[in-house]
Amino acid sequence: MSGQINAFEMAQKQFDGVAKQLKLDPGVAEVLRWPMREFSFRIPVRLDDGSLRVFQGFRVQHNDARGPNKGGIRFAANETMDTVRALATWMTWKCAVADIPLGGGKGGIIVDPSTLTVNEKEEMCRGWVRAMWKNIGPRNDVPAPDIGTTPQMMGWMMDEYSRLVGQYTPGVFTGKPLGGGGSLGRTEATGYGVIYTVREAMKHLKIDGKNSVAAIQGFGNVSQYAAAGFVEMLGGQVACVSCWDRHDKKAYTYSKKGGIDPRFLLTIVDEYGTIDKAKAQDAGYIVEDGDAWITKEANVLIPAAMEGQVTSDTVGKMSKNIKIVAEGANGPCTPEADEFFKKNNIFNIPDFLCNAGGVTTSYFEQVQNDMNFYWSKEEVLERLDQKMTSAFNSVVDRSEKEKVYMRDAAYMVAIDRVVKAMDLRGWLTGNA
Ligand code: GLU
Repeated sequence: MSGQINAFEMAQKQFDGVAKQLKLDPGVAEVLRWPMREFSFRIPVRLDDGSLRVFQGFRVQHNDARGPNKGGIRFAANETMDTVRALATWMTWKCAVADIPLGGGKGGIIVDPSTLTVNEKEEMCRGWVRAMWKNIGPRNDVPAPDIGTTPQMMGWMMDEYSRLVGQYTPGVFTGKPLGGGGSLGRTEATGYGVIYTVREAMKHLKIDGKNSVAAIQGFGNVSQYAAAGFVEMLGGQVACVSCWDRHDKKAYTYSKKGGIDPRFLLTIVDEYGTIDKAKAQDAGYIVEDGDAWITKEANVLIPAAMEGQVTSDTVGKMSKNIKIVAEGANGPCTPEADEFFKKNNIFNIPDFLCNAGGVTTSYFEQVQNDMNFYWSKEEVLERLDQKMTSAFNSVVDRSEKEKVYMRDAAYMVAIDRVVKAMDLRGWLTGNA
């Protein structure tokens, strides 16, 4: 997150604007503009060199009116309580817009995981669970992977929780590895989900996928499969991906004449999303500055790296032909960028709709864990497509009915559903 942008202030600003349009009762709005519960804790970890290092951990539970809190854990050097608050809040709206029976949560640790050994990472994961286990669980809060965390880490965390409660409890974490309680299709889910919404947006705007070009920021889990899906499902071209290089501590943009080959890049990227620069150059890729991605000639922009990337400073550098901005990341576009999109008639697929595929498949994973019966990959992806398509349609319908911007329409759909659940549970009558 860049210095001046506070993600939580941004989340509250977006919410306040829509609460006003919905004429939401000020008391109800006050409940929703802050998380219900917040945890901040210290995690001591014995490093391989024998020294003891203490890490700062977080978990925020925003709202569980519709079901257990749900959301990832980020391991990031620049993590803050406010970022976790914003991301937990967006999870509430994400689960509501996807119409899955879950609430909003998010967690984190201030750490760059690439600086730790495998053993140290396992210790840190188990330490996070030891601090939080009494306040998470399949019926109360279910964490998952996010930036800097992996299926293997979810496997360790699930194991630590199961040991502490004394029984195998796979449904306490999702995004687990295959064979260790994970679901087929979970790895591809967020990126493919982005593409299902782009496909629907293209239908809506009468744009031909085969003549389309995407410029993508990021090459982590979301962008890897969004890039593959853009080429393989829509028949389009991907002009570039940009990604952080953990060795050089800077970002690069990778492009190629005729479009990049996502499946090739998948063979030369490490678990932290760093592409092997030398191998890419050998294969004819052009390597430029990390900011170049936004300037590439394209009609679809997919910011799928992190929050606060498309701002008043960068939005003017976009190709004039951009028709769709599909937010693969959480909070990648600031309110100033929104104003630019509105003015220039650019169709926005807001983050908590666009990237809801991950949490939707997490929900499927939990359902399979509960049944102890696992589905085929085709079945998972088909159900995911149905959920994403119907979420997209409910937001477009609302946007057309109320003549509002897509982000506001997504908020309206989500807020209505959460307020209804709070009301049905009696939280708004004064007796709860
Ligand atoms: N971290 C992902 C997100 O932001 C997935 C959350 C989950 O699966 O619970 O949506």
